[in-house]
Amino acid sequence: MSEQTYLDREGPRDECGVFGVYAPGHDVARLAYFSLYALQHRGQESAGIATCEGGHITTMRDGGLVSQVFDEDKLRALNGDMGIGHVRYSTTGGGSWENAQPIWRDDGRELALAHNGNLTNAVDIYNRLKRKGLSFRGTTDSEIIAAMISCDYGRHVEDAVANVMPQLEGAYSTVVMTKHAIVAFRDPFGIRPLSLGKLDGNYVIASESCAFDIIGAELVREISPGEMVSISEKGLESRQVIESTRTAHCVFEHIYFSRPDTILEGKRLQQVRGKMGEILWKEAPVEADLVISVPDSGTPAARGFARASGLPQDDGLIKNRYVARTFIQPGQELRKHGLRMKFNPLPEIISGQRVVVVDDSIVRGNTTRQIVKMLRDAGAKEVHLRISAPPIRYGCNYGVDMSARNEMVAHERTIPEIATEIGADSLAYLSMKGVYEAVGTPAEVHCDACFTGSYPLGDDPDEADGKFDLEQVAVLPVAR
Ligand code: SF4
Repeated sequence: MSEQTYLDREGPRDECGVFGVYAPGHDVARLAYFSLYALQHRGQESAGIATCEGGHITTMRDGGLVSQVFDEDKLRALNGDMGIGHVRYSTTGGGSWENAQPIWRDDGRELALAHNGNLTNAVDIYNRLKRKGLSFRGTTDSEIIAAMISCDYGRHVEDAVANVMPQLEGAYSTVVMTKHAIVAFRDPFGIRPLSLGKLDGNYVIASESCAFDIIGAELVREISPGEMVSISEKGLESRQVIESTRTAHCVFEHIYFSRPDTILEGKRLQQVRGKMGEILWKEAPVEADLVISVPDSGTPAARGFARASGLPQDDGLIKNRYVARTFIQPGQELRKHGLRMKFNPLPEIISGQRVVVVDDSIVRGNTTRQIVKMLRDAGAKEVHLRISAPPIRYGCNYGVDMSARNEMVAHERTIPEIATEIGADSLAYLSMKGVYEAVGTPAEVHCDACFTGSYPLGDDPDEADGKFDLEQVAVLPVAR
């Protein structure tokens, strides 16, 4: 068993979170810090903030959580009228320091850039830029976007972004800062989220609206697919750079990635997830005594399931809220307790009960198998699993790290076979139709490729695993 198996959810892995603010007179570094703090669930490997003061961009970034990377002294050193920030889980490139963001480059135009997503043509562009003589410090597609904008001949950064966007393929929700402006832009499919907010007459940008709430900003709207928004002393400017012919918003954001207090496509996700649980009960009822969730991400759906079924709901598993990623191996003695580091069952609640366990997804199934065993060991008479998403059978090319397909528990298995593999008395998944009924917008405007294998950009399902594509062609320099 790997360390990752019991200390973290076994995926899918959140991608990244981005933030940008133009607010003269405000402590922009502190605004960035707290917004990133609210976006921490989108990436725990590294965090960074860049600010601009008097034409000079200062960037600080490092491995770890936002609260580990920054302290008062560091925030005080980050002055300016505008700033951008990033939290990262590595979807492309390894987790090295060079790949932490915001990325800083000066290939003609000095800038800092933060990106959430994954370019599907990163290797082609990388080779092209290398032939032009550009060099790279890291191995992320984000640095490629930064280099392209930095060296573009467009007079203003807005022109450069408008020149670069049509050359990019894949998912990109991005903020870039020069000494003049912050520019946010989103791919024409709108795969990853990106929203615009307002704070005391100033504008802010963030991956999710929960980042606005924490700093007292208001959600204005989502950045449209294919749109570029510039915030500067000139106020807000918007340009539709690419006409979007088909959107492909990631449906998994609604199911799991985004925070439940975020508003996406006009709906609060806590309510959407509750509805998923209600529909799950209608689709897959079960005779049972008690509904419990796999906390915290399964909790809204569990509540909906209990509401619709009339079954009592309780906390059967207690989550250690203070678990962050640890790099300490537990050693042989603690290894057998595995998942207890993250979840602890309550035998007084579970014992003798026919328990329905609601969770939002299963990827490899290792964690789920251990949860089922843990509940049985705590005295559960029966364990029925209900999952508020369809089986995951395909990888993601658009900024989410899933396991390899052949490691997925649903790979080439029927649902009864998965139930046997996991050791549950019964198992049911929410249908794709049920997901969209809860989300309230149709399948045609979303990406659901990891469930259906139907990739909106036409990718080959067998090649949907591009996490380290670039690393295979990029030769990493050792210098920092
Ligand atoms: S493949 Fe899945 S995780 Fe990736 S963008 Fe599509 S729905 Fe989201």
